[in-house]
Amino acid sequence: MQQLEGLRVLVAGLGVSGRAAVQVLTERGAHVRTYDEKVPEADARTPDEVGTVDVVVTSPGLAPAHPVLARAAAAGVPVWSEVELAWRLRADRPGGPAPWLAVTGTNGKTTTVGMLTSILAAAGHRVAQVGNVGDPVVLAAIDPSVDVLAVELSSYQLHFTSSMSVQAGAVLNVAPDHLDWHGSLEAYARDKGRIYHQAQRACVYNAADARTEQLVREADVVDGALAVGFTRAVPGVGQLGLVEDVLVDRGFARLRHTHAAELGTVGDLVALAGPDGSVPPHVVENALAAAALALAHGVEPAQVRDGLRSFVPGGHRIATVVQVDGVSYVDDSKATNGHAAAASLAAFPPGSVVWVAGGLAKGATFDELVEARADRLRAVVLIGVDRAPLRDALARHAPQVPVIEVDDSETGQVMSTAVRRAHRLAVEPAAGGVTVLLAPACASMDQFASYADRGEQFAAAARALADGS
Ligand code: ADP
Repeated sequence: MQQLEGLRVLVAGLGVSGRAAVQVLTERGAHVRTYDEKVPEADARTPDEVGTVDVVVTSPGLAPAHPVLARAAAAGVPVWSEVELAWRLRADRPGGPAPWLAVTGTNGKTTTVGMLTSILAAAGHRVAQVGNVGDPVVLAAIDPSVDVLAVELSSYQLHFTSSMSVQAGAVLNVAPDHLDWHGSLEAYARDKGRIYHQAQRACVYNAADARTEQLVREADVVDGALAVGFTRAVPGVGQLGLVEDVLVDRGFARLRHTHAAELGTVGDLVALAGPDGSVPPHVVENALAAAALALAHGVEPAQVRDGLRSFVPGGHRIATVVQVDGVSYVDDSKATNGHAAAASLAAFPPGSVVWVAGGLAKGATFDELVEARADRLRAVVLIGVDRAPLRDALARHAPQVPVIEVDDSETGQVMSTAVRRAHRLAVEPAAGGVTVLLAPACASMDQFASYADRGEQFAAAARALADGS
């Protein structure tokens, strides 16, 4: 058990989980100071106070180069993520620690953890969905009413997590994102790979993403832990996958060397289908990953199906908003990087998408995305203040696709203007099955309060079109 009595701790970053960390540390007799430039009640005034503490508990908002963390590194003061703190506290749970099932990846984390939670609940487990959504992990880890945790982990949290030993963990995919924080793709991937460290029963990887499989190979796991891949193809032994439209298990099933156990069908994911009724490929991957983690916990195949059926997707994730003049409006505002936008565009037939894209590029380039998905595009409406990288990639790899730009001084009006222009491009010349897709490949904060605000403005503008206003 972690001894906290008398420990001098600096909690850096006072968001919801930072405050929860302060609470549990104080309850356990630690001497807590707090640091947050934006919060007046934080009592540590300068990063130099790191020199007076035994450990720093940091929030995901602080990059390793932040003065507090840089000074901690220079002074040899250990830095724990809130996840690390939660892991060290979990033995305090009355009745003993609850197992953790964890998910990371560049995209699909929230959806997969949500599916996993739904499956575990369908199997009768008392599960807490924690991480970026839900309760702070430090509180759930010690909550006696929680028997198993479904944990969403960002690479930021994993960077400062070293002693966690999950029952099963999954890396869904690794694509360039947040490189400003991590320094390089290799460092980013390495941090994601920490999820497998000391995994007890299973390391779940994406068979179509060699980086994730490599991370499993490099991981130091508990003896006997399985490596289980997921694939949209027919699975081999050691994998979950698809046989026609049936989701099957050859990773855990007792007879996996000769048989595949049926888990459900793609039809069980109908709540996540696009406007034409088909389920996007990336959604199937997320479901297979969630199923693998649940099976590692001991859930029965039929309960996987029940959980997937009852899963309610979060907003702004490839959500069909409305149809106007035969044109579908789909809000995937959560597609905040190129990898997500590529998955989103792949869900639609060639030539059928008027793509609303752009925003804060976060230093990314879009050549790979545009080259791979140019065939999907009927036209593009560019928004955002930082549009040169996307505009240039379109000029290079999709010169035949019309691109309309919305003036970046139109903040406030930007989405209604974009939607009206997109509609014109969608209906002229007349064609069936066209979708206006908001999948910006960029962060939203240049012109919107958040990705949710961006998606809501898109939906409102599309509904206004439908109302003829
Ligand atoms: P995260 O929590 O990792 O941001 P979400 O589940 O919120 O992931 O999905 C974010 C966006 O990423 C979605 O809106 C979709 O565009 C895309 N996405 C979801 N799952 C995947 C996947 N498995 N592979 C690629 N892109 C995905």
